[in-house]
Amino acid sequence: MDCIFCKIVNREIDSQVIYENEQVLAFEDVNPQAPTHILVIPKKHIENIHEMTADEQQELLPEIFQTIQQIAEEKDLGKGYRVVNNCKENGGQTVNHLHFHLLGGRFMQWPPG
Ligand code: C5P
Repeated sequence: MDCIFCKIVNREIDSQVIYENEQVLAFEDVNPQAPTHILVIPKKHIENIHEMTADEQQELLPEIFQTIQQIAEEKDLGKGYRVVNNCKENGGQTVNHLHFHLLGGRFMQWPPG
């Protein structure tokens, strides 16, 4: 499958991995939009949050959110941070492998563009 994030999981493409376990990988976004910009993904290829089965949600979402909390602690984001999931074309998704952006280290504007 020609998926860039699967290639990152399989180490066919380089990335700055900052955490991984059996199910989840976290790595630095190559085009950071904030002082901290990390992507947290399931290793399993799931296209987007809308395509997740109930079983996948139960298995993977707790892992993903625990990873986000843990990284936020490590990165000293006690003042706050933003978690973003872009879903499909109108949501602004450009890589069709489920991922959550963890953005921090500056004040986040609202509403998003
Ligand atoms: O939510 P969206 O699909 O637009 O986000 C994809 C993200 O993946 C972008 O922030 C982009 O910079 C990042 N990316 C990356 N490494 C790649 C390709 C894309 O970090 N090799």
